[in-house]
Amino acid sequence: MTKAKRTESMIESETSAPQEPVAESAPIIGAAIPKEPVVIGSVTLTPEIFLQAVEHAPVAISITDLKANILYANRAFSAVTGYGCDEVIGKNESILSNRTTPRLVYQALWSRLQQKKPWSGVLVNRRKDNSLYLAELTVAPVLSEAGETLYYLGMHRDSSDLHELEQRVNNQKQMIEAVVNSAPVAMVLLDQEDRIALVNPSFRALATELAPGRPMDEAVVTLREALGEPFIALCDKGTKISSHEISFDMGGYSQRWYACHGISILLEDERAGNFFSQPEARYLLLSINDITELRQRQQDSQLNALKALMAEEELLEGMRETFNGAIHRLQGPVNLIGAALKMLQRRLGEQAKNDPVLLAMQEAQKAGLEALDSLTASIPVVPEEAKLPVNMNQLIREVISLSIDKLLAQGIVVEWKPAMHLPWVMGRESRLRSVLKQLVDNAIEAMSARNISQRDLLISTSVEKNVVRIEISDLGPGIPAALTYKVFEPFFSTKPPHKGCRGMGLPMVQEIVAEHAGTVYIDTQYRNGCRMIVELPFSSAT
Ligand code: FAD
Repeated sequence: MTKAKRTESMIESETSAPQEPVAESAPIIGAAIPKEPVVIGSVTLTPEIFLQAVEHAPVAISITDLKANILYANRAFSAVTGYGCDEVIGKNESILSNRTTPRLVYQALWSRLQQKKPWSGVLVNRRKDNSLYLAELTVAPVLSEAGETLYYLGMHRDSSDLHELEQRVNNQKQMIEAVVNSAPVAMVLLDQEDRIALVNPSFRALATELAPGRPMDEAVVTLREALGEPFIALCDKGTKISSHEISFDMGGYSQRWYACHGISILLEDERAGNFFSQPEARYLLLSINDITELRQRQQDSQLNALKALMAEEELLEGMRETFNGAIHRLQGPVNLIGAALKMLQRRLGEQAKNDPVLLAMQEAQKAGLEALDSLTASIPVVPEEAKLPVNMNQLIREVISLSIDKLLAQGIVVEWKPAMHLPWVMGRESRLRSVLKQLVDNAIEAMSARNISQRDLLISTSVEKNVVRIEISDLGPGIPAALTYKVFEPFFSTKPPHKGCRGMGLPMVQEIVAEHAGTVYIDTQYRNGCRMIVELPFSSAT
């Protein structure tokens, strides 16, 4: 509390309820002071008992005349002020003044007394040994039966320790608040019912991003869902969350990463009724650190490495397709030769052994089979890749970045609508990336025709029951309904052969999606072009 505020509060105590339990309308009335023994039931209280009670009361008590000259002071008064009782009798209460209490405070005190009302407040007092203390003082008029002020009663205690403690608590609170409020880390304290008990400005900013225009509790729900198991363990068992990373897709290309920390705090009940039982309530403190910049930098360098890797993989995939195509084409004539050989052998019977045509055909068949074997052996091997948790949003973002040159060259506008938080898909990252790359490349190619003027590519992700659903929609010519299954067959292409299409892209997509226990299909209801839908189970650990 500032000096000015403190003075104000003391002056205010003129009208507000006094801090000490002295009722506003209860000045001390002369008649109430017993002159004769007081009999209450079987107990008789003599004036001596009253005097001793005041004399030994643990509060500094003084009685003054109307000019504040001290007529009586009890033992506690001596103990607090350092003056012996004899030393202060006849002296004015002002001997206790340190002369630093603002004049307005005294004016308030006297104004109340003149209105025959009590006053409570804090003064800076000086002891006999010149040491200072804070006096929490209550003064009250002692009235005659006729309502005349006869004396003033003063009661005070040294509240320096309490004040120091209060100040320390206040200062610490202010320091902690300053640290928490200026921290770039978002902090939220949740009570047992998951209600927000406290937030800092960084959390408010985060909540606006996570749940724009909605109550802050919704941001907490989003965080809780994204944290999943660790949050449940924190609630149920108090298991600490340390640096658990979560990410959110905020729409468009903006993805944000956060490192979350969580601890549970036991707070004691503040209500008077629970003073002795002290029940504890478990609160959860979540601190959320935005690590987007760091992750972004890591991703940029990963993307560069990925570009090189993808180029190599594309080359190998092209080779695999070429070899498979060659094998497929060679298999036909070799099969034909085999069939012709059998027919010829049957026709020639015994003479078959020395027939030159048959021998030439056998040679041709042998050469064909050898060629097939050597082609099969030359197919580049697909490297074995472990299944790991994969974030499909992340893969799509990578694929868009990898295809950016092609997209720009064709003037294609990408509308990217990611689900804000996608569960992990257990899968082979580079295989799944190839699926997305193939589908995006197909869409780009479909919209590259001259007659396509509006070139929008819409990519979205969503969570449906137990699958992550990815939709890739283009505004190209689309695929006729009759061919929606055929296009997944090897070597089938809707384009003329000379266009260089090997017809192996979609079969590869289907093979990889099937490897992940998922499905890929064409949305036959979509009429504006082609919409490919890939659904991958996120609970599958296969
Ligand atoms: P003063 O000249 O005494 O007075 C300051 C202001 O109070 C002036 O505005 C003046 O008009 C007004 N005033 C003074 N006396 C009267 C009066 N008799 N009637 C109406 N207005 C008056 N002060 C402390 O510093 N510490 C204490 O512990 C303390 N205990 C007190 C206990 C009692 C029961 C009473 C009645 C007063 C107590 N005082 C205490 C107040 C004290 O009497 C002085 O008013 C105060 O110390 C200021 O002293 P001063 O010499 O600076 O100014």
